Amino acid sequence: MSDWNTRTKLVHGGIRRSQYNEVSEAIFLTQGFVYNNAEQAEARFIETGPDEFIYARYGNPTVSMFEQRIAMLEGAEDAFATASGMAAVNGALTSLVKAGDHVVSAKALFGSCLHILENILSQFGVEVTFVDGTNLDEWRAAVRPDTKVCFFESMSNPTLEVIDIAGVSEIAHSVGATVVVDNVFSTPAFSEAIAQGADVVVYSATKHIDGQGRALGGVVLGKKDYIRGPLETYMKHTGGSMSPFNAWVMLKGMETLDLRVRAQADSALKIAEAVEGHPALRRAIYPGLKGHAQNDLVQRQLGGKGGTVLSLEVKGGKEAAFKFLNAMTIAVISNNLGDAKSIATHPATTTHQRLSDAQKDDLGIAPGLIRFSVGLEDTDDLIADITAALEASQA
Ligand SMILES: *Cc1c(COP(=O)(O)O)cnc(C)c1O
Repeated sequence: MSDWNTRTKLVHGGIRRSQYNEVSEAIFLTQGFVYNNAEQAEARFIETGPDEFIYARYGNPTVSMFEQRIAMLEGAEDAFATASGMAAVNGALTSLVKAGDHVVSAKALFGSCLHILENILSQFGVEVTFVDGTNLDEWRAAVRPDTKVCFFESMSNPTLEVIDIAGVSEIAHSVGATVVVDNVFSTPAFSEAIAQGADVVVYSATKHIDGQGRALGGVVLGKKDYIRGPLETYMKHTGGSMSPFNAWVMLKGMETLDLRVRAQADSALKIAEAVEGHPALRRAIYPGLKGHAQNDLVQRQLGGKGGTVLSLEVKGGKEAAFKFLNAMTIAVISNNLGDAKSIATHPATTTHQRLSDAQKDDLGIAPGLIRFSVGLEDTDDLIADITAALEASQA
């Protein structure tokens, strides 16, 4: 099975059939499991076998199918499914550090990731140094003998900078630090983060894995001794496990993941090429564009695919950006991404509203910037809608 190609893994990986031999993955919507006798209960609490379960916070057959399917896809030894992407980020970081440890993190982060690194870890005596993630010299200068974790989003939100996984991993490993990558924007379809050096990979499954805007979820992937050791211990006692229903949604989402994400990335490239240079735009950011500053890294790290999100900075600041958003007829204004429906976001006033003006400036979150998650609609319809909205933004 490990020699299956991606789409076969996504459809059949991890399947676990009940005595009815159902075709489609079953939902085991149960919190607990009956033991045949007291001795069996005792034995299971000493050691839980691969087909044995105790309590849904610890594990569940449907959740386990999802974990095995995504682990197979990523080439990870094991995975633990979580209630949300943030439960995954928090669990991965918190299970690796203790008071007195040092963490190095890229500064361009999803708002809640930034909150964990800036506010929560420091509350427990962990020191965090922030660097420009795209600059390997800054990583080199920041790591120390007591650095336990290097953390970054492999493609940053919303300015779509690509961070060199192999390069950062080499620097982190030279001081014995664990590399934790939030890989959402790279998507499980294009990523080979573990092969490129990451020790722990985290996804918000809410994004491309569900891909249809229905359920929250997340997953932490890595070596078996870490996932079934410190990470599982942390997650199962702090309550961040995925619900069996959501695991079932994610399993069905995975069947079409590769098809959806490739179609979205192809569409994103066509849109970026069509609008690049439009007079209403200050800049069009898409890592798949030949002119993107890190396009050669995109070739090496992501097989040339630039992901499913593009960012457009319209001329005229917030007022023009709002005119753009309000003029769109197909894409909806919301803040998810990786969805079948195209979604546009104004980061400066929503997802990144909390940042100071200086931080926004530093991260390139300009008042005219719009993040556009490309859905599964017809590409030409999207180009027409975006082009009309660009005209409207300057009216
Ligand atoms: C959405 C997102 C998260 C958080 O995921 P949730 O499922 O919303 O908790 C973390 N990191 C990145 C990069 C994201 O885009």
